[in-house]
Amino acid sequence: MAANAYVMKRPLLITHPDCEKHEKPGHPERPERLAAVMKRVHASGLSQDMDVKLATEISDQLLMQVHPKSHIEHVVNSEPDNSWLHIDPDTYMSAGSVRAAKLAVGACVEATTRVLDGQYQHAFCAIRPPGHHAELMDAMGFCLFNNAAVAAMVALEDPSVDRIAILDFDVHHCNGTVDIFKEDERVLVCSSFQDHFYPHRYLDFSNNHIVTTPLAPGTSSLQYRRAIEASWLKKIEQHQPDFIFVSAGFDAHAEDPLAELRLIDDDYTWITELIVGLADQYAQGRVVSTLEGGYNVEALARSAARHIEALI
Ligand SMILES: [Zn+2]
Repeated sequence: MAANAYVMKRPLLITHPDCEKHEKPGHPERPERLAAVMKRVHASGLSQDMDVKLATEISDQLLMQVHPKSHIEHVVNSEPDNSWLHIDPDTYMSAGSVRAAKLAVGACVEATTRVLDGQYQHAFCAIRPPGHHAELMDAMGFCLFNNAAVAAMVALEDPSVDRIAILDFDVHHCNGTVDIFKEDERVLVCSSFQDHFYPHRYLDFSNNHIVTTPLAPGTSSLQYRRAIEASWLKKIEQHQPDFIFVSAGFDAHAEDPLAELRLIDDDYTWITELIVGLADQYAQGRVVSTLEGGYNVEALARSAARHIEALI
């Protein structure tokens, strides 16, 4: 029996409206981000070319594949009954944050499971809060749990997956993902980011399977593409990943208010097509992408739509 004969080629989009219930007035990581992405996905007709499903919350048991019980309990017990509080200088929690965060991880894990089952090849998780700054023991950088990392651990339990790649094009370095996988050679982490910038952790850390691509403020579209080709492609070829995860942040866009790279909408089509091509070459086409940053709501919605369109 052909276990990998794909029944459906339509991509999967997993989301949940309760991911908008994590909120603090005036904070850049706001519910409108996800609402704008989903509005664009529907208005542009992209949703008609995908299967759109609702996420379910991750179980503590699966969450513990990455995060220690003490971290999960700390997050759960920190949730306020109303209003909001800060769990770290940048990271807030409100009533509804725990459900949103568990739905975000749940979406990534379900997408991964369905791709492993062969029902889908490509999936996008339209969720928040983001995850790539969440370290093993620490919520930080607007992130409570590391969504992609938990899904990656689930993928690594599948007999068809020996090695994976996590490709992160958010403008901020994925310190959380590096923290979690720095000693796990099965996981290639490639991260492009604005240099000397938040999170100021793991910026200089690299080894054979942790690939960093620091970029100067003002880096243009063309400079970005050349940097990605020069630093990622050889490593991915050597690693031969069986499954590719994407930490898809859109805050390297020129219109983003939080950072200073100069990417344009087209770059998100370019990098997604590159990743899909690599997945076809090495990973039986398997790509699960999850939303990370992107703080100009308009630019985020346009860029995410380009990314999703290229996944289709
Ligand atoms: Zn970011």
